[in-house]
Amino acid sequence: ASRAQRGGHWQIFDESLRADHQQRLAMEIALRDALAAGGEEIFPVFQPVVESRSGKVIGFEALARWRTSRFGQVSPAEFIPLAEAAGLIDPLGSLMLDRSLAACALWNAARAAQGLPARFVAVNLAAPQLIAPDLPQRIAALLARHDVPGEMLHLELTESTLLAQPAAAAQMIQQLKELGCQVAIDDFGTGYSSFSYLQHLPADVLKIDRSFMAELPHQPRARKIVAVMLDLAQALGMSAIAEGIETPEVLREFEALGGDCVQGYLTGRPMPFEEALTHPDGLNWVAPA
Ligand code: C2E
Ligand code: MG
Ligand code: MG
Ligand code: MG
Repeated sequence: ASRAQRGGHWQIFDESLRADHQQRLAMEIALRDALAAGGEEIFPVFQPVVESRSGKVIGFEALARWRTSRFGQVSPAEFIPLAEAAGLIDPLGSLMLDRSLAACALWNAARAAQGLPARFVAVNLAAPQLIAPDLPQRIAALLARHDVPGEMLHLELTESTLLAQPAAAAQMIQQLKELGCQVAIDDFGTGYSSFSYLQHLPADVLKIDRSFMAELPHQPRARKIVAVMLDLAQALGMSAIAEGIETPEVLREFEALGGDCVQGYLTGRPMPFEEALTHPDGLNWVAPA
């Protein structure tokens, strides 16, 4: 290729890079504005966590959604990393905690009035939140403001979040537990040193990543790995939740291994607050054999 041709290619490449960069900047500004505006565009949806044998919904995981006029519905896989990079995870995380606790207070008030047991809300935390020294005080203040007992708040941390600052994370987890909150390890089994940090981090819940679930019906190795994760959770006094159960077949396999708590499209998609508020317990996800 001639130099001129190569130059031409570079120019095109350069322009598409610049377009990407501009799109990213525009999205960052939109996210900043959306958060400053009080979060009309950003809100939690709630996915049921279910005790499969009884059909009881024991809680909901709050998942962030961003619906913009300009970019349409942006996936959290895109805007969470963007928020982290732009220093916006703190306001986003606070908004999610605030809205999720408000939601939990309302659904539990409705349930108490009917004599039904309370349901927790699980909120995801990002690495920068976990190293903010005032996080426990801020969570304590939010719990008090919404009049939600600490036990009703689960905090989900991924392995990468924990690895960023293991010592600070361990100390933070201890303080969060003192508020009564349950700490969950999210996407378990996909990170780098799962066993090493389990040794040091006193977490309460193990959320088994959905990549293991899809393989359960076909892969004897996946079955053994999930069985060992369930044993591990039990040995450490933790409860286990399977993520991403999509079919009755996978649920049946998971139950055969002794698993019970599940979260996935089969037992409930993420839903708006209005639906979560009145969402009933369910049964019969698995057709009788
Ligand atoms: P996650 O915390 O592991 O949440 C579970 C994700 O799996 C959600 O994706 C949920 O919609 C999806 N899911 C649930 N059941 C199924 C299933 O049966 N099949 C499949 N294929 N997927 C299922 P979503 O809502 O797109 O969120 C993606 C990730 O973004 C979350 O993964 C979490 O890491 C992050 N995220 C979401 N909201 C927040 C937030 O408020 N703060 C932070 N820091 N991260 C968040
Ligand atoms: Mg999660
Ligand atoms: Mg997860
Ligand atoms: Mg996951």
